Amino acid sequence: MPIRLSRKKKGFISFLFFIIILIQILNVVSVWTYRRGLVELAQQGNVRLELYINYLQGILGKYESLPELLAIDNSLVRALLNPHEKKRIEILNRYLETINRVSDTLDTYLMNKDGLTIAASNWNAERPFIGRNFSYRPYFKQAMKGKLGRYFALGSASSKRGYYFAYPVRKDDEILGAVAVKINIDLVEQKWADRDENFLVSDPDGVIFITTNPDWRFKSLKPLEQDVLERISVSRRYQDAAIVPLGDNVNTLWEKVEILNIEDGAGKDRRRVLKQSQFMPQAGWNVHILTDTRVLRKKVLIVNIMVGTGFSLAYILVILLLQRSHRQAQLHRVEEESKRALQEANEQLETRVSDRTQKLTEANELLRKEIIDRKQTEIKLKRTRKELIHAAKLAVLGQMSAGINHELNQPLAAIRSYTDNGKQFLQKGQLENAMWNLEQIGELTERMAQIGNQLKLFSRKSSGMIAVVPLHGVIDGALEILKPSLRKEAVALTIDIRPDNLEVRANHVLLQQVLVNLISNAMQALEGQKVKKILLECYAIGEKVVVAVQDNGPGIAKEVLHEIFEPFFTTKKSGQGLGLGLTISDRIVRDFGGKITVVPSAEGARFEFTLDKIVQETQEL
Ligand code: ADP
Repeated sequence: MPIRLSRKKKGFISFLFFIIILIQILNVVSVWTYRRGLVELAQQGNVRLELYINYLQGILGKYESLPELLAIDNSLVRALLNPHEKKRIEILNRYLETINRVSDTLDTYLMNKDGLTIAASNWNAERPFIGRNFSYRPYFKQAMKGKLGRYFALGSASSKRGYYFAYPVRKDDEILGAVAVKINIDLVEQKWADRDENFLVSDPDGVIFITTNPDWRFKSLKPLEQDVLERISVSRRYQDAAIVPLGDNVNTLWEKVEILNIEDGAGKDRRRVLKQSQFMPQAGWNVHILTDTRVLRKKVLIVNIMVGTGFSLAYILVILLLQRSHRQAQLHRVEEESKRALQEANEQLETRVSDRTQKLTEANELLRKEIIDRKQTEIKLKRTRKELIHAAKLAVLGQMSAGINHELNQPLAAIRSYTDNGKQFLQKGQLENAMWNLEQIGELTERMAQIGNQLKLFSRKSSGMIAVVPLHGVIDGALEILKPSLRKEAVALTIDIRPDNLEVRANHVLLQQVLVNLISNAMQALEGQKVKKILLECYAIGEKVVVAVQDNGPGIAKEVLHEIFEPFFTTKKSGQGLGLGLTISDRIVRDFGGKITVVPSAEGARFEFTLDKIVQETQEL
């Protein structure tokens, strides 16, 4: 199963890899830079060493021939032949002093064949060479063998380092003695002194006697064997100087190129130096140049910093690029996901829309069906209503017929019995009684005629044309009909029309019939009352006119209130009412656009209805 690592862990592992690779790279770079630096240093060192050797050769060459020149001087021969001639020796001393000063040498002196100094340039010094024997010095020995003697040593008298040249002084072929010059070698050290570059000159044993670093003087380049040390000590070449090795761990890189670990100064600072050597055959010296490798360490450090920085930057760049591409991939993924989600949502929406459309279409279809159903139902309803109305009409007709039948049968039966009685009284000759019966028949026919009149009113209902009618006129007409009854019954009728000239939209005769009906009902209700009062009120409210008829009678019982507008409902005695008055009146008022209602009042009954008011513009003008 593959192991999935978190981004943090991945980052840490990549960083670890980076560090390991960086260390490896820096290691390789360090080694390469160091090696390359060593090669460059060695090349530079070689050039410098050549220069130094040339310089040394120049110095030595300058003094090399001086003893030979002096040796051919006769005064030196004579002095050697006559060493006791004080005067001659004094002159020679002064001569040697002059030569010494002019040629810029340390000492110039003449020795006899035993090595005893008989004349010297430092005759006048504190410790003159005169009288001192230098027969043990190799340069003397070489000179006495007829050769140019050369030697480096610490001066036994002066304790000053010097390079000695000696040449034999001859008389014919006989060597009488040797003349020697000692040259100062401090010059060759001071001029070439440098912190990072040191020149050394060592003798064949490896003992340093010329060095640009004074601390290294009389040290050996490598540890010396005991017998060598003893030999050097016997020769008193370096007086009593203790010869210690300059360094250790010598590593040979290439031919004549070595790496040396040396102790600098008081032994505190150990330095790694590059040692290059060359042999100077004329002088029998080894000349060395020691170059400090510290500069390489700096170089390695700088190169490491540069490479490390470059590599780190490259790493950061790679990481940033990776992160960028990762982010872009994430962005792409998110975009893809949102696209997919959007597409899904779109599809869902489309499905839902099509579902809804389907449902809507179905609902529409249902609605359409329902509308058709409704229409059909409406048609059915209308038909049913018509049928119902027809049935109701028939029922009303039936009711009416029953009522009329009832109302007419009674008087008819009475007439029949009065007729029979009349007949009998006539047969018996009782004319008075017969007359009374005939009068009764007459009254009964009168009553039957009244019933007929009422039915006539009912039938006239729809014949009236609606027009503008003055209320005042209508009320006057109604009073004409009612006046005898009002007077008979002693009813006080109050008429209140506000304003007086109110006009309404109605039919004059029918409205008059309604008023006669309502006032008649009121009069009938007042039967038996001590004080009989009827109030007829007409007043305008906005676009309407309210017409009210109120009496101070017993009022209408709650139980019958909902029935009084029903046809043939009456509380009156048989023969007094048909129960059609309110039904007919209400139908008439409805045709005018109003409705009769019973309004609660302090006493008696109050009937009200509204009519459309006519605005009387001409009068206002
Ligand atoms: P009728 O007068 O023939 O009875 P109506 O339709 O005119 O028929 O009246 C129906 C009934 O309404 C009356 O029988 C009566 O009981 C009641 N009624 C009508 N007007 C009044 C009134 N002013 N006071 C008391 N009752 C009334």
